[in-house]
Amino acid sequence: MTDLPADDTCPRCGGGFHCGVNDTTPCACTTIRLDRQTLARLRERYSSCLCLRCLAELARAEAPQPSG
Ligand SMILES: [Zn+2]
Repeated sequence: MTDLPADDTCPRCGGGFHCGVNDTTPCACTTIRLDRQTLARLRERYSSCLCLRCLAELARAEAPQPSG
């Protein structure tokens, strides 16, 4: 585990996190799969990255729901 400073703030939940978009290593958000529609919506709504927890929540929310 890397110990990165939480120098960004998630616009969705207000929590601190570190966005890796300016790092040499790939951003952690690349490990979370969101469909393109969801990503486009997030870009319209938020000007910056969301924290991993919110991304994971969104990924889960858009996953196919079991019927019943
Ligand atoms: Zn968040």
